[in-house]
Amino acid sequence: MSDSVKDPAREGSLDAPFRHPIAWRDDAYYDLEKVEAEMQRQFDVCHTCRRCFNLCDSFPRLFDAIDESPTGELDSVPKAAYGKVAEACTLCDMCFLTKCPYVPPHPFDIDIPHLILRYRAAKRRAGEVEFVREQLGKTDRNGKLAKPVARLANWATARENTPLRKLLEAIAQIDAEAELPKYHSKTATDRLKAPIPPNPAGPAFGLRKVALYATCFVDYNEPDTAVAAARVLALQGVEVQLVYPECCGMPQLEAGHLDDVAGRAERVAAHFASWIENGYDVVALTASCGLMMKFEWPLLLPESAAVKRLSGATRDISEYVVELSRAYGLAEGLMPVEGGVTVHHACHARAQNMGAKSAEMLRLIPDTRVELVERCSGHGGTFGVMKATHPVARKVGRPAARQVAAKGQENLCSDCPLACKHLGQLLSAETSPDAAASPRQAHPIEILARAYAL
Ligand code: SF4
Ligand code: SF4
Ligand code: SF4
Repeated sequence: MSDSVKDPAREGSLDAPFRHPIAWRDDAYYDLEKVEAEMQRQFDVCHTCRRCFNLCDSFPRLFDAIDESPTGELDSVPKAAYGKVAEACTLCDMCFLTKCPYVPPHPFDIDIPHLILRYRAAKRRAGEVEFVREQLGKTDRNGKLAKPVARLANWATARENTPLRKLLEAIAQIDAEAELPKYHSKTATDRLKAPIPPNPAGPAFGLRKVALYATCFVDYNEPDTAVAAARVLALQGVEVQLVYPECCGMPQLEAGHLDDVAGRAERVAAHFASWIENGYDVVALTASCGLMMKFEWPLLLPESAAVKRLSGATRDISEYVVELSRAYGLAEGLMPVEGGVTVHHACHARAQNMGAKSAEMLRLIPDTRVELVERCSGHGGTFGVMKATHPVARKVGRPAARQVAAKGQENLCSDCPLACKHLGQLLSAETSPDAAASPRQAHPIEILARAYAL
């Protein structure tokens, strides 16, 4: 237990939670015996609490293992069961953020997502590296390889291409039912090579400059999102430059490859340093990347001034548009979005502790119904596509999909593009047998751009 935690004066904690820096440079961090002892300590608190039973599949796995053990207590649960608990964790952060009263500064010092991260890092150091996940996580390499053969790559990986997907499942353990990202021959970087000139009549003209962090997913797989963001910002009079040095390393974080993530954090922070110096705000286009830049990187490199500065300068795109609307008002011309919108508030946006900014942004559109769904989609990056975990991703996502269906809106968006696709797939396959009735999917900023007819 950390020295920095306070003496308990009461049950639970009313103080603001904080996280400890991640000790990835210490050998003890990777000592499996120590890690499992810490898991036993924290899991025992969870056993007596059980508040998180319905957040994901990790907690039910833990509680079932305890309930089915000879003593009905954690002491007789084999350590192998810890691996099953860790396997089901998408690092969504929801147990830390929304449920747990025992996070630091409470002396119980509970942080299950970062404990599971440590377990994965320790397993990795012990030689347990999943080859396929590793390859899927090389998003920049994959994007560069797929770009010149985008049509072929999309054909080969389409879910409808059953024989090839079955082959891929047999060889690479990628679930044949999982929707895989599509590639484009023109990336966001290609499409925004010539920046969109800022609107001189925009309310923020001459007042704001944005370095738009494309993120790997938007650059290679959803370039429309970057174009929509650049158009909306330019209309407000903001000077926008698309900047994409490299992926933030979320897939590597998921895999416990922490020295790799730290290297990316250092390089990306160094790349953005001159932009920040020159008065640019940094805006991230996907929730996970924003979370990495704002919160995870400073815990990996607490001594880095550049990382700290980047963390302070970074905003999520919806958060930024709301900020502009409050400071200067938005440009005129917003028209209602027909059929209304359901916003899925993705876990990694919730974990940024900024409120439901995408819903707040879309509520600026006149005469448009905006509904909010806050349940986890269950996707979790590579978790959602691997054969071993795709069924769990579906199971966790089903209640969220049902909520989306119950809202009955014609448009669906999420701060996380993978979550949006996953929910769309669940809606088509399980909730609504009529695929045509499934809502149209887009990123929140694309819906705002549409309301501007951009
Ligand atoms: S981080 Fe999310 S998936 Fe992992 S244990 Fe917590 S709630 Fe479950
Ligand atoms: S993470 Fe916290 S709230 Fe959730 S079960 Fe464990 S102790 Fe309880
Ligand atoms: S977190 Fe962002 S940059 Fe990283 S893999 Fe995901 S989309 Fe790409």
